[in-house]
Amino acid sequence: MYDVKGNLHLVQEQLPEGVQLVAISKYHPAEYIMAAYEEGHRVFGESHEQELRQKHEQLPKDIEWHFIGHLQTNKVKYVAPYVSMIESVDSMRLLREVNKQAVKCGRVIDVLLELHIATEETKYGFSPDDCRQMLAEGEWRQMEGIRICGLMMMATFTDDTDQIRREMLLAADLFDELKQQYFPTLDYFRERSWGMSHDYLIATRDCRSTMVRIGTTIFGPRVY
Ligand SMILES: *Cc1c(COP(=O)(O)O)cnc(C)c1O
Repeated sequence: MYDVKGNLHLVQEQLPEGVQLVAISKYHPAEYIMAAYEEGHRVFGESHEQELRQKHEQLPKDIEWHFIGHLQTNKVKYVAPYVSMIESVDSMRLLREVNKQAVKCGRVIDVLLELHIATEETKYGFSPDDCRQMLAEGEWRQMEGIRICGLMMMATFTDDTDQIRREMLLAADLFDELKQQYFPTLDYFRERSWGMSHDYLIATRDCRSTMVRIGTTIFGPRVY
């Protein structure tokens, strides 16, 4: 088996105090997750509803599951009862549905707003202006089933570290702006989720990340 424990420790040692590690376990078997779990790690991320459902049923119930993929509105009801955070809220329609399903099961679900800053068209998310507009419209203030805890983004997949830095800093600056304008007294609005296997050191050292989502560096290459 891949040296999950060793890799987990190497990553943990590199993260500054206060940066939350979300171990991205998509496409990896339950025993890999258990290897990290046995080392005390509890926060894992998945990007497909069915895979998450199976792993949630199979694995210890004190695992905190973050949903990080594109979530179809008709799948929200399946994750709402147990998911710890939905990092990938990429539309108002999805936010409304998460709120509705959370209220139905008597929960408040933590969410992040996903930004689309990267140049790839395949990525989902709000443009910075759509994000501003959505918050300005204010409907979210009436939603009792959700807490908007911050922003999430994926930088462009490139070797150009300046471009990665530019994109992450744009997200960090938008975070500051939104914090000041809409959440100045709300402590829970504090997460800046950026940084993956190839760029997490840029994210934490230079771009004010508070949460990194790392899969390959911990679990090895994914087998699709
Ligand atoms: C798969 C995935 C990751 C982890 O990617 P690695 O390169 O394996 O670290 C992080 N964030 C999102 C949104 C993902 O889909």
